[in-house]
Amino acid sequence: MSKTSHAKVVIIGSGPAGYTAAIYAARAMLEPVMIQGIQPGGQLTVTTDVENYPGFADVIQGPWLMEQMEKQAAHVGTRFVPDHVNTVDLGRRPFRLVCDSGDIYFAEALVIATGAQARWLDLPSEQTFRGHGVSACATCDGFFYKGKEVVVIGGGNTAVEEALFLTNFASKVTVVHRRDVFRAERILQERLFRHPKINVIWNSVLEDVRGSEGPRKVVGAAIRNVKTDVVTELRSDGIFIAIGHAPATELFAGQVEMKPNGYIKTAPYSTATSVPGVFAAGDVTDDVYRQAVTAAGMGCMAALEAERFLAAHHMESVAAE
Ligand code: NAP
Repeated sequence: MSKTSHAKVVIIGSGPAGYTAAIYAARAMLEPVMIQGIQPGGQLTVTTDVENYPGFADVIQGPWLMEQMEKQAAHVGTRFVPDHVNTVDLGRRPFRLVCDSGDIYFAEALVIATGAQARWLDLPSEQTFRGHGVSACATCDGFFYKGKEVVVIGGGNTAVEEALFLTNFASKVTVVHRRDVFRAERILQERLFRHPKINVIWNSVLEDVRGSEGPRKVVGAAIRNVKTDVVTELRSDGIFIAIGHAPATELFAGQVEMKPNGYIKTAPYSTATSVPGVFAAGDVTDDVYRQAVTAAGMGCMAALEAERFLAAHHMESVAAE
């Protein structure tokens, strides 16, 4: 049977932004409830080495870092809900959230920390072979490509990191990028250029995934040079799409103001959204930095702002009595 609960602060999402908001809200005695979503721990649970989160001299693992954040949030009193929010009503306070399980949560203040999801190219052949050789997560699927040849599409940090990670398994990794320069950090680029298993094809895009049926699998990639329009056939056992991320905002469409690119709009130097009492932190609102550490910083801001909002609201109700 579904149940109904009431909370001072509900946090949706369990990445660095959500966990940090939970730690601060719990320490402010707000007894936060965190609805963790489908992939608890967020994007860092599908990365490997993390070397830019401050505080760790040695290279740490993304999943380990998220476990530590979860333990810390639990230790200070966060209540975790392993569920997925299905619908929200932000039209009036307390805000009403309905989960997949049917459970309902009423929240006096809400922190949206739903993060971002991998983007796809939306080629029909990409859809056909998704899960059959086409993937957006090297950490999840790289193991299946022991001794095989793979292609990575993209030129940002994710593409370069995934290409480097795939060298642990694959015999050959080809990175296909639409321009002639990467946007990934220099240190990662240098590692990639030095790697004997990695080859880069510049100024090119994935035109089509070549595959076969029975069993369904990828056998190659048609790559089009954007300058010459020449299409080249590449032999490949797997194709990893690493072309960036899109904010997970569908749930809030039409209820909070969004930027034209679909990220949640917040007030300058604040996590306040267009709805009083609703705060947004991390990749769901940040289209500039998109780092674990900036997400954590925003999570802290969101909890502090929620605390101030609730205190001011409480003062108003006391004054009205
Ligand atoms: P990103 O930085 O937005 O890079 C996306 C890449 O995909 C770009 O090279 C882009 O090309 C390419 N691309 C986009 N649409 C394409 C299309 N339709 N066809 C072909 N190529 C396309 O995304 P990201 O690499 O996922 O990184 C997201 C954020 O997370 C970034 O801020 C990144 O720094 C951060 N991140 C950090 C780390 C780390 O610090 N270790 C690791 C992973 C991610 P153009 O370059 O031509 O635009």
